[in-house]
Amino acid sequence: MSDSTLPAAASSRLRNTISWLAWPGLLAISIAIMAYGFTVAMPALFFNIAYLLLALCLYGLEQVMPHERVWNENDGQTFANIAHTLTSKGVVQAAVVFSTVIGISSYVTPAAEPGYGIWPRSWPMWSQVLLAIAVAEFGLYWGHRLAHEWPWLWRFHAVHHSVTRLWIVNTGRFHFVDSFKSIALGMVILLALGAPMEVLIWLSAITAFIGILTHCNIDMKFGPLSWWFNTPELHRWHHSKDLREGNKNYSENIMLWDHVFGTFYNARDYRPPVDIGIQEEMPPGFLQQLAWPFRRRS
Ligand SMILES: [Zn+2]
Ligand SMILES: [Zn+2]
Repeated sequence: MSDSTLPAAASSRLRNTISWLAWPGLLAISIAIMAYGFTVAMPALFFNIAYLLLALCLYGLEQVMPHERVWNENDGQTFANIAHTLTSKGVVQAAVVFSTVIGISSYVTPAAEPGYGIWPRSWPMWSQVLLAIAVAEFGLYWGHRLAHEWPWLWRFHAVHHSVTRLWIVNTGRFHFVDSFKSIALGMVILLALGAPMEVLIWLSAITAFIGILTHCNIDMKFGPLSWWFNTPELHRWHHSKDLREGNKNYSENIMLWDHVFGTFYNARDYRPPVDIGIQEEMPPGFLQQLAWPFRRRS
């Protein structure tokens, strides 16, 4: 080996190591920060710290080792992506407050208190969280699948799929109606079973970490992880314009229900398409995108 190839070989080895370690490593670090947040009784603060750190690491890696270089080019949707993320979060939070005002919480709150429901509160927390993920995924899976299969739900979900590139900033790009539906379906079964608040917080945090990882544009490798978890590799197929690939991989965190209902898809011999998006024409502006699902179709 000549001297000039040494740095190149070392840098490609480093890149290869990072591509294998990035997904599980960053997820594990985020979960560890969250666990620390619980030990000091500040899960919300430490969730924000973990999420911000994760976003910064992913943004940096997107610049130096992108999965698709063309996806790093501006598509003019950054403002709309951020505006959808903020309105979705705002509307969901407002709905929680409003439900307290109109008294829905008097039905919901007992569900999160000790002694209610059949939730196995005596199990170790990690196993309760795993159970919560599997249970919530059932609601999330069907909510997501019906959003693809029922045209009147697809209108809302199409806002998420209308992007022509994947990167961390379109993680939260959901029409607020679509967001509200997902959160309701994910949480309602857990609340009915009496899952405690700590479990719900863990579930929300893990869903947020896996969500931003899933949309990142980084050259990562996953091996058998893609059988178990919703990795970027699987989600890139889900964003394909070809519905034989796109109407697959509906799971949010773990691939359990895609395996059960036969919608798991990962073609290892092919690369997921670069040209992603939807068949319909989505207006470029945020407000027009909010109105788009409600417009009368010809
Ligand atoms: Zn989808
Ligand atoms: Zn997506």
